[in-house]
Amino acid sequence: MSWHAEHDFTVTISGGSVAGLCNAIALRKLGATVSVHERTPGPMLARGAGIVVQNELIRLLEDNGAGPLPFTSCRGRRYLDHDGGDGVLQDMPQEFTSWDAIHAALRAAVPDECYRAGSEVQAVTQTGSRVSAALSDGTVIESDLFIAADGSGSAMRQRLLPDVEARYAGYVAWRGTLDESDVPSDLLPFFDDLFTFSEARGGGHMLAYFIPGRDGAISRGSRRLNWVWYVHVGLTDLATALTDKNGLQHRSSLPRGTTPERAIAALRARASREIHPKMAALVSETRDPFLQTIRDVMVPKTLFGRILLTGDAAFVVRPHTAGGTAKAAYEASVLARALKSAGANVDVALQSTEELQLEYGSALYQYGLELGNRWSRDRSTD
Ligand SMILES: Cc1cc2nc3c(=O)[nH]c(=O)nc-3n(C[C@H](O)[C@H](O)[C@H](O)COP(=O)(O)OP(=O)(O)OC[C@H]3O[C@@H](n4cnc5c(N)ncnc54)[C@H](O)[C@@H]3O)c2cc1C
Repeated sequence: MSWHAEHDFTVTISGGSVAGLCNAIALRKLGATVSVHERTPGPMLARGAGIVVQNELIRLLEDNGAGPLPFTSCRGRRYLDHDGGDGVLQDMPQEFTSWDAIHAALRAAVPDECYRAGSEVQAVTQTGSRVSAALSDGTVIESDLFIAADGSGSAMRQRLLPDVEARYAGYVAWRGTLDESDVPSDLLPFFDDLFTFSEARGGGHMLAYFIPGRDGAISRGSRRLNWVWYVHVGLTDLATALTDKNGLQHRSSLPRGTTPERAIAALRARASREIHPKMAALVSETRDPFLQTIRDVMVPKTLFGRILLTGDAAFVVRPHTAGGTAKAAYEASVLARALKSAGANVDVALQSTEELQLEYGSALYQYGLELGNRWSRDRSTD
């Protein structure tokens, strides 16, 4: 007998990024009929950069016959001072991948007929245990479960939890990647095989590590060197920081390739004053640094009848946890397991999923605040 003997269990997912796809592969494995709607038309290439590999994601990929996920590895960490020097080394092996490699591995495990790019979910209504989603092409689809995996700015969260704010944390992440072939030869051996951290003079810190190349290649010479620099930006300067080279003001990030030249020049000048010279050299060599604001979102609930918030649409945790994708994978696995063991008792399964999401999400959220506040407490004002 199949998992859901009563009828074909149907799931609509808004958001075809990490959380949406994790849910799609876990629920399809269970036997559900899944349709993923991603509003971005075409391939999603210009997203995040490096991601620290976490077990929850690897387990989800393996359990559902997806992957393999390309990753790079290092033997340990190097801690640098802003004044220069070779820093302090610590043995701590770690593995790294990239947002695009994760997305490619997940997307490859979801058949094309289950994934619609350029399809925006515009409105959702519930009647009893059925959910209707109105799509941008004018069609309406019905399902037994609607999963809102629509990211940190989730419209569904804003509708269901209007009092929950995405609070600006007071700093941004400047990010960049350099193709290994573009990394100056004196920098390569310095960064190779290590996860490097540098404190910044005015507070904040920068980190760097190698990730797979654009096509997932992991051999030496084909990788990318990824860096993230957390920089304090006061609320009054945020609108300027989020204005792109065409004068368009963005809500929470400056997509790659849109940063104004004057902002890049200011970033490079700041790097030369504030961080270790080798880290500053990485910033200088990067053609197209991009910016993401750091925001905190904590939700009291993830379940609203047959609508479930997941991934960044639920909690947004600080990136220092390196746990956002692991949380998305964990939530998808928990949901699939709960539905499997509850059989026809779908609502019981959803309630137990919500309980575990709230427990995991709040713990990771708090941990992220502690890590983030550690440096922002003693930063200087600028
Ligand atoms: C600086 C930084 C560093 C990070 N580093 C790490 C790390 O090392 N490790 C880690 O695990 N995590 C890291 N993260 C977090 C990680 O990137 C996110 O947690 C993860 O990508 C969340 O994915 P998501 O699918 O929930 O949301 P998103 O990736 O934001 O996806 C939401 C999707 O929904 C789509 N969408 C929105 N509305 C609609 C709609 N109405 N209809 C259809 N589609 C819609 C959007 O187009 C988007 O594709 C980092 C984050 C930042 C900012």
